[in-house]
Amino acid sequence: MTDYQSTDYQSKSWWLESLPETILPNPPLTGAHKADVVVVGGGYTGLSVGYHLRELNPGIDVRVIESDVCGYGASGRNGGFSMTLFGLTKGITQFRFNDEKARAAHTYMESAVDYLHEVITQNRIDCDYERSGYLLVGTSPAQVKRVEHDFKIIERWGSAGIERWDRARLAEEFHTDFYKLGWFEPRCGIIQPAKLARGMKGLAEARGVTIYENSPVTHFSKNGSSGYTVKTEKGEVQSEYLVFATNAYSILFPQLKSLQRPIFTYIVMSEPLSDARMESIGWQCRAGVEDARDLIHYYRLTKDNRIVMGGGDVAFTYGNDLTIDLNNRIFAHLEGHVTEVFPQLKGIRFTHRWGGPVSVTVDMAPVIGYLGEDKKTIFSLGCIGHGVSLTTYNGRTIAEMIAGQRSSRTEMFFVGRKTIPWPPDPITYGAAHAIRGFMRLEDRLYYK
Ligand SMILES: Cc1cc2nc3c(=O)[nH]c(=O)nc-3n(C[C@H](O)[C@H](O)[C@H](O)COP(=O)(O)OP(=O)(O)OC[C@H]3O[C@@H](n4cnc5c(N)ncnc54)[C@H](O)[C@@H]3O)c2cc1C
Repeated sequence: MTDYQSTDYQSKSWWLESLPETILPNPPLTGAHKADVVVVGGGYTGLSVGYHLRELNPGIDVRVIESDVCGYGASGRNGGFSMTLFGLTKGITQFRFNDEKARAAHTYMESAVDYLHEVITQNRIDCDYERSGYLLVGTSPAQVKRVEHDFKIIERWGSAGIERWDRARLAEEFHTDFYKLGWFEPRCGIIQPAKLARGMKGLAEARGVTIYENSPVTHFSKNGSSGYTVKTEKGEVQSEYLVFATNAYSILFPQLKSLQRPIFTYIVMSEPLSDARMESIGWQCRAGVEDARDLIHYYRLTKDNRIVMGGGDVAFTYGNDLTIDLNNRIFAHLEGHVTEVFPQLKGIRFTHRWGGPVSVTVDMAPVIGYLGEDKKTIFSLGCIGHGVSLTTYNGRTIAEMIAGQRSSRTEMFFVGRKTIPWPPDPITYGAAHAIRGFMRLEDRLYYK
């Protein structure tokens, strides 16, 4: 990749395009090196592993190897919700594991959201953080049932601070007839994702982590009992520990391929709303909003009052194809949904459209796992569209695992859990189509 243009990343999201500075990528990996830990992938997970390892042990030699620039993947493209959802919904996590584990996962996620806030504020990471909360809304009778169901679970767990918002309360905040019932979680927030990723890169480097960019890892192998060798086109590093922080891109590594599947989610963004338009829609609380469909919509405001609308449908490809970042059908649906929720915005212009892959395990739940018996190759996968706070916190957990420190995090049930592999294509491809078809139908008939 000698012809790399430092602006290539910009087309991947408005967040990356609008960074205050053009990224000058770090030099690629060249030559042969030795280190204690190699981390493959420079998103939130990889950068957080590096940062926390050096926090725990300032003498440890950690190298992060990123194929493009840090933040190129989901970390530079997401909706920017820092939220407490673990897996797809609370109900599904409870059904898949049990009530105790679902509750423990929620507590972990609450800590993840609080911890991300702490990292951002203590290290003064400029990422437009707004602790404006998260709102789950029901917009049809069937969605209202789901919102009630989730709220009952949260009430039973005794989770503090979450408020039930009836129609009158919702109408105080939003000028729309669309919302019937909601619950509001004040501890959550919204960020500019690419600024967070670049800020985390700066933080990791300030702690002494070496980061190579523009360096796709092509191969890794075990050297008997003396660790691993990781290779790129122009260099290699030998290390005792190896961490895969490659999220949906893990499909490119045969050893990880069947553990997760990339699924693409899409976003549209409007022009900045004028003061008059802002007044017409309310949204004074500025909370990130999700509805309770199967194929959810998620939406929020940016610092300069653009509306970011994502979700609505998903896409997937056959085999290892990771090139479907754009989907005009879904973009058109999302633009239409903005004026469905806020008819007073008819005529607004949409300026940006993008998408990216999330990592999905068979049971839709995250996993921090090991490859091999020696427990020295660690991977983190399956954070689906709920990974902003989770991946940053998981980075801390993985650093503790490598440092041999036990904590409430390293003892979580999803650390070291066995994952069910996806069957090979065409079985998975066919099954994914069938599941998405069912979800679309349910949304059309019930959830709207
Ligand atoms: C459109 C979209 C919207 C989302 N919205 C939200 C949201 O609002 N809230 C939320 O909590 N979560 C959201 N998510 C999910 C969240 O963004 C992810 O869970 C999180 O960013 C994953 O971080 P990561 O570091 O594990 O992976 P990534 O950020 O994907 O990082 C993986 C990195 O590995 C690199 N890589 C790949 N192959 C190689 C290789 N061979 N060698 C070296 N490096 C390699 C990639 O370039 C990439 O930088 C969304 C995701 C998407 C795509």
